[in-house]
Amino acid sequence: MTITALYVDTTHNMDDSVVGRFARVLGLSPIRTENIAQVYEQIKRADDPCAAGKQALVLTANHGPFLRKCPGTREYTCCDYHILNIGTYCTMDCAYCILQSYFHPPLLHFFVNHEDLFAELDQLIDSGQQLRIGTGEFTDSLIWESYSDLTHRLVTHFGRQERSVLELKTKTTAIAGLEGLPHKRKTIVAWSVNTPEVIADQERGTATLKARLRAAAQCQAWGYPLAFHFDPIILYPGCERAYAQVVDAIFGHVSAENIAWISMGTLRFMPLLHSVIQKRFPSSAIIYGEFIPGLDNKMRYFKPLRIKIYKHLMARIRRHAPDLTTYLCMEDDAVWDQSFGFSPSLHGGLPVMLDTSAGRHCGLR
Ligand code: SF4
Repeated sequence: MTITALYVDTTHNMDDSVVGRFARVLGLSPIRTENIAQVYEQIKRADDPCAAGKQALVLTANHGPFLRKCPGTREYTCCDYHILNIGTYCTMDCAYCILQSYFHPPLLHFFVNHEDLFAELDQLIDSGQQLRIGTGEFTDSLIWESYSDLTHRLVTHFGRQERSVLELKTKTTAIAGLEGLPHKRKTIVAWSVNTPEVIADQERGTATLKARLRAAAQCQAWGYPLAFHFDPIILYPGCERAYAQVVDAIFGHVSAENIAWISMGTLRFMPLLHSVIQKRFPSSAIIYGEFIPGLDNKMRYFKPLRIKIYKHLMARIRRHAPDLTTYLCMEDDAVWDQSFGFSPSLHGGLPVMLDTSAGRHCGLR
């Protein structure tokens, strides 16, 4: 989706060169305003606020915390991840994207107070804990590569320490800026993957599976560890075979030894998203599966269906890489047990499993 308006929040003192770069690449004159609330009102009044919010970008400061723990729920096994909030929303357009109903209104923001970001990051890293920190939770990690040097700075910054790891999560192929950086394997480049059918039907504006895997192979050649996320897994006739082929394609492109982890999570959504998908993606059938409300109030596939596909995918992964760290996103011990034959507590808990793998792949101390 094309960005047609660039707003600059003048309540924050902003570096003109940062604004200039966004304006130049977008070919837009920045609209300077101290009343961003007016922009929010405009987006809310649009016929399709979710689409309108992808056509306007606000450059502003983040006045809240940059870092927060992933808000897992008590009922499901959480991976103990830290989210680094670099901006919100996304230029791509996936039918199932939770961000459509998460922000009010959904609107592209990129935070420019990077000195505050790095100060907060250092404070956390200096606390001495081993951390996994990711930027791909409230946005895609690599959508601003042509506009900002933030990824370059983050990767270089993580390369200077040995306790924590940065995970960049994307559906793009915007990896050119990662070449030649002194990453010291402290950045994991991760792709969300899906079947070619799901990508074509439900993920507008994203890279094809082949392109994502080629980009992953390139990052591997540049020395980066990798990760893959099967999320959301969508059930449809023939999906088991199709997802197995995605597993095969991953191992056909990159080395099992270079994959820090693979995660899996089936489609889940807050009931509010149902009507958004119905309205914005009328030909999408993803909301018409066998869903039940979970303990976190999100709708999910009926448990036996989730277990069946997890089991199937895990068996396929094990064929290629018996020891690869594979985990389930937001599932309970019973689902783990029935899908994988063990629950994370056998290995000290999911955070320990992932920290151990990060330590091994990224050389953490
Ligand atoms: S790529 Fe991710 S953040 Fe972007 S629209 Fe798709 S699901 Fe949402």
